[in-house]
Amino acid sequence: MYKKPFTDKGSSSFSKKPLKKFSKPSGGSFAVKPGSKPAYKSYGKPTGKPFGRKPFKNFSKPKGRRGQFIDVSKFINKAVITEEVEHFKPEHAFADFKVVDALKTAVIKKGYELPTPIQDRAIPHVLKGEDLVGIANTGTGKTAAFLIPLINKVLLNRKEQVLVIVPTRELAQQIETELLAFTPGMRIFSVCCVGGAPIGKQISLLRYEYNFIIGTPGRLKDLIDRKMIKLAEFQTLVLDEADRMLDMGFVHDMRAVMAGMPKERQTLFFSATLSQDIEKLISEFLHEPVRISVKTQDTAKSVDQDVVRLKHGDNKLDILHDLLNQKEFSKVLIFGRTKHGVEKLSKMLEERGFKAQSIHGDKNQSKRQQALALFKGGHSQILVATDVAARGLDIADVTHVINYDIPETYDDYVHRIGRTGRGGKAGKALTFIE
Ligand code: AMP
Repeated sequence: MYKKPFTDKGSSSFSKKPLKKFSKPSGGSFAVKPGSKPAYKSYGKPTGKPFGRKPFKNFSKPKGRRGQFIDVSKFINKAVITEEVEHFKPEHAFADFKVVDALKTAVIKKGYELPTPIQDRAIPHVLKGEDLVGIANTGTGKTAAFLIPLINKVLLNRKEQVLVIVPTRELAQQIETELLAFTPGMRIFSVCCVGGAPIGKQISLLRYEYNFIIGTPGRLKDLIDRKMIKLAEFQTLVLDEADRMLDMGFVHDMRAVMAGMPKERQTLFFSATLSQDIEKLISEFLHEPVRISVKTQDTAKSVDQDVVRLKHGDNKLDILHDLLNQKEFSKVLIFGRTKHGVEKLSKMLEERGFKAQSIHGDKNQSKRQQALALFKGGHSQILVATDVAARGLDIADVTHVINYDIPETYDDYVHRIGRTGRGGKAGKALTFIE
């Protein structure tokens, strides 16, 4: 149901007040002549065109795709904190799983007391060697749902090699970090094979022994073509965020990898959504999989969603500036559509005295990691990101998600706002509407 837009609310100070003064978060402030335009160029001027229908221009992949029309009312929703997860009673405790003691200890040491629903249901099947389809989004604990039983598999057979394919570099690194935390002193080795990082280093690491390869489809394909990865040696395959990989146009690379793997293998397939294409991949590449769905709308429900409606003549950047100056906007993830736009916005915010980082496909791996670490650690108030770069990121305590540019699809919207309102906390999402 359509609710009152954000800017109509009497309480929304930023929409009514004319912006005269920009106060720098660092303490300094500088005035702009009344009536004059601020000394900054506006980013993404109001176009007057209907939103969400623009061609998919600069978004890296897939090219030529058109944005979906999304009803504005879908961006407005009051948060409902469901306590479903708190009330969820797992059938197992981590101690009940038939895994090696050292692994149980590492899991508990990491602070995991009770399994999440996907872990509770998936781990026993994966331990039995079954194929599995998990319909789950990020934040459900799906990483540990596959890592814990697969680490156990490796501990029981040191020759075991696991290939994990994910859509983005950041997700690959997140998984590797989790793997390292679960395997201290266990002599389990991994190689992260992602694009944007020097291939030479990955090639030299692949010359040593390893049990896990975690990588993105393009780079994996490259390393397979160079005969650095021998698919025949892998008995276990994990496809994480498979729907996203399809969206990003990786289907051919994914198929090439799957086709090269031994027929006798264990395959785990995770996706946030089920489409015909996804079902096709499942039926082609999995063998009688167990299906587990824990996808809930919890994340979206715990996010207070509203819109910032721009009126004719409003300066979008000024309005953003005013929002970011409010105290509660302490850890803000801003989404832009293009790599160039994201970089530009982050630079402009920095010029205005904000601590802003950016993350997008044009940045090299170490720069992206650095930006992420600064934001995660609270040293930077703002992270400006493209959809692809932010996919699957797990960042604690994001207070606000701002859609500076409208997402291309509603699915992207749900993924974006899911970066806040995590861990039983309420989050806020604002979408700029021109
Ligand atoms: P994921 O969905 O795998 O990205 O996990 C989301 C977050 O939940 C990560 O920060 C995990 O470390 C955390 N997590 C996963 N499983 C558990 C658990 N059983 N108990 C506590 N935290 C968990």
